[in-house]
Amino acid sequence: MWALRNAFLPGGGVADVIVDGERITTIGPGVAERIAAAADGTGRLLLPAYIDGHVHLDKVLIRDELRDHDGTLAGAIEATHERKRRYTAEDVRARARSVIESSVQLGTTRLRSHVDVDTIGGLTPLEGVMAAAADCADIADVQTIAFPQEGLLRDPGAYGLMEAAIEAGADVVGGMPHWEADEAAQREHVHMCFDLAERFDRDLDMHVDETDDGGVRTLEMVADEALGRGYLGRVCAGHVCSLAAAPHDYAERVIDKCLRAGISIAANPVTNLVLQGRGDRGLVRRGTTRIGELRAAGVNVLFGQDCVKDGFYPFGRGSMLEVALISAHAAHLTTRSDLAFALRAVSDAPAKAWRLTDYGLEVGARADLQLLPVPSWEEALRLQPLPEKVWFKGRLVADSSVETRLHRSS
Ligand SMILES: [Zn+2]
Repeated sequence: MWALRNAFLPGGGVADVIVDGERITTIGPGVAERIAAAADGTGRLLLPAYIDGHVHLDKVLIRDELRDHDGTLAGAIEATHERKRRYTAEDVRARARSVIESSVQLGTTRLRSHVDVDTIGGLTPLEGVMAAAADCADIADVQTIAFPQEGLLRDPGAYGLMEAAIEAGADVVGGMPHWEADEAAQREHVHMCFDLAERFDRDLDMHVDETDDGGVRTLEMVADEALGRGYLGRVCAGHVCSLAAAPHDYAERVIDKCLRAGISIAANPVTNLVLQGRGDRGLVRRGTTRIGELRAAGVNVLFGQDCVKDGFYPFGRGSMLEVALISAHAAHLTTRSDLAFALRAVSDAPAKAWRLTDYGLEVGARADLQLLPVPSWEEALRLQPLPEKVWFKGRLVADSSVETRLHRSS
């Protein structure tokens, strides 16, 4: 058992927390007063550890080995092929492990990773990411999503590999319907993913409409399929870029369907800000979905890191605090309630998409926590500090201290 006294909470106020084993057992003002060994959290902010609900751990850190390309999604996918052919499970494992470890140091203890499943890399990426997840099981939970990056109809053989991936232990069924050649193939792709999810009783987390083309409709296909099959609250749609370019009447209709189907939306502004709108002049599309409208409608919206120094995005370090700050710029989030929404988008919202029942700063929740050297979430966003401490299942898994000196002339 351990305790922390006098920490600021994200919603305001100061409280103590007591952790026994993996769980928060008590939280409130003064509850740890009589525990002599309680650590002092004065002046610091206690947050639940972040969740990265959308990342691609198989591709991380390969950027330096890729040829330059036109900066588009298609360019990135193409440029990655050559490297993907050379993947070994050990190579994927080492890179994924390095990003899981840095994510933990930056306050994230749960990550949900898409992993390419296709006829180029076969099941090698999955093998590597699952090995990294096992290596890091003492510091983080990593879920894997079987992700048909090259399409299912466009890549004959991929569906069989998807089945094999689920049998090998992938937790969630992925998808990428907009990548197929035409609308009929897109619809078929969506069918196939739902069939697989139903057969193996898995949730779905698909790449949906990651394009500038406002005419693409795979989000509605996914929502219709979820509603038709009663697959409610079990689907997450990632990226959803083109919704921003679609007509408003379509957007309103499909947002309502997402709400009714309990679909979560994983917006990934950090990557899509650099990937989309490459052909535009003047008013350039920024690739960010209708975050404000989805939020206003009550849809569960989360922010993902998506990419770390891969063919799609040259930056990223597994910092969900950085993801929240960049997303705040992309989505015009500035008021207190906006900034509270940005925190939910890297904590409670991915927890909901993941259907976790033991997450958060509350009694009974798993003690995945972090302590930041700032008095408030707003200051954390502005100053981007390293967490001083990070706990996973009640155990301290990372600590940091930073000392900077200013040398004056007199
Ligand atoms: Zn993605």
